[in-house]
Amino acid sequence: MTVLEDVSDLIKRIAPAAICDDCIADRLGLSVRQHANHKTRELSATKGFNRNKDICSVCSKEKLVIQFA
Ligand SMILES: [Zn+2]
Repeated sequence: MTVLEDVSDLIKRIAPAAICDDCIADRLGLSVRQHANHKTRELSATKGFNRNKDICSVCSKEKLVIQFA
């Protein structure tokens, strides 16, 4: 599994809840937050994934989150 697939899977698993890059990095044990950021940006161009400023379902902070719908 690639990191992109891991990130994609995680987002689909928690759908329709939204999750931020920090929580994705945390859940997947990614060492660099920037890594998650890069992947979610890549995924946001994929059909079904939406990246918006909203409340993260995990940390409850308002930030850039990604969601699969
Ligand atoms: Zn979060």
